[in-house]
Amino acid sequence: MSSLPNTLILPPETRTGAGEALRLLDACAGFGMRGVLVCGASLERSGRLRVMLDACETNVNVRVWTHPGGEPTLEQLDALLADAREHNPHWVAAVGGGSVMDIAKACAGLLRAPAPAVAYHDGASIPASNTPFIAAPTTAGTGSEATIVSVLTNAATEVKKSIRHPSFMARLVILDPTLLDGCPPEVIAASGMDALTQAIESYCSNGATWFTDALALKAVALIHASIEAVYSGDAAKQADLLVGSYLAGVALSNARLGIVHGLAHPLGARFHVPHGLACAVGLPLALDFNREAVPEKYARLSRAVGMDIGEYARLLLTRLNLRSPFHGQPLDDIDAIIEEALASGSTKANPRRVCAEDAARLLRRLFAPANTPPQ
Ligand SMILES: [Zn+2]
Repeated sequence: MSSLPNTLILPPETRTGAGEALRLLDACAGFGMRGVLVCGASLERSGRLRVMLDACETNVNVRVWTHPGGEPTLEQLDALLADAREHNPHWVAAVGGGSVMDIAKACAGLLRAPAPAVAYHDGASIPASNTPFIAAPTTAGTGSEATIVSVLTNAATEVKKSIRHPSFMARLVILDPTLLDGCPPEVIAASGMDALTQAIESYCSNGATWFTDALALKAVALIHASIEAVYSGDAAKQADLLVGSYLAGVALSNARLGIVHGLAHPLGARFHVPHGLACAVGLPLALDFNREAVPEKYARLSRAVGMDIGEYARLLLTRLNLRSPFHGQPLDDIDAIIEEALASGSTKANPRRVCAEDAARLLRRLFAPANTPPQ
């Protein structure tokens, strides 16, 4: 295994600590005096957006754009791009969950791109961006603050996939654990399981290196030590969950993922299931599937969580009250789902090669009525 990925891409600056979000806009002013701030509706509703704007000591001109909700679509991105271009910002910042960060990242990345967003989603070559992107996550999380990836859905075709470019990497990341205050428990559960899945998949990936393994294993330990406590309302553990999610993001951005994410995108787009939940319920099945391919890594993962890693993933689903939204649903579109899953970069990085029959077997288990014994 290599020590480093072929190309190592990291956020150049990360600030960590309670209260750092209040200094975000002053930090952004370092990139220019005109910016776009993308946030979710809850930041505004809770009054925290007002507090952040009031705390700003520089005379920076900020245009606020509220993400309408849900996982970002190309249509929403086009609306944001049109609004942002009118304002001609020096930077784009995101304060929000994975959806907010992904759409803001794509806005910064494509701000001066000549073609409409759909062209890049369909595979056109993305030009380098020089618009700084600043990210402050309010969930833990997709790790989007630490990746060059933006996941977008074409609502017309129901194709959900990522666009990526090295220049998409955030110039500044703010990890402020108080931003998790008030995050609903079901969001803590689903997004925390996404972070855990990302840590495990990047750790077991074909693209894993010594560098990403160190981050991914630490991420598993931090998430294990905090996820249930934060779900139960223990704010003191929010920093561990947030840092674990960030480290998993750095790991996946440099090592890729695996079959859980390969399946989660086509399933999420068709069944309108939140990404974290789709990953959470797929993780135990993928851990069964990959067990023989990376036994030493499973031993280390199991040591990190104090029990067999597959059993742990199942136990967490129960303890976090996460139920599969797929059980018993009709699996009408299975061939197209398999085709998309096999074509994804995540599936290609899976430690055990996945053929169409493997993917079909995994999907049938995922969609079997509850309490069907595994085959
Ligand atoms: Zn994910």
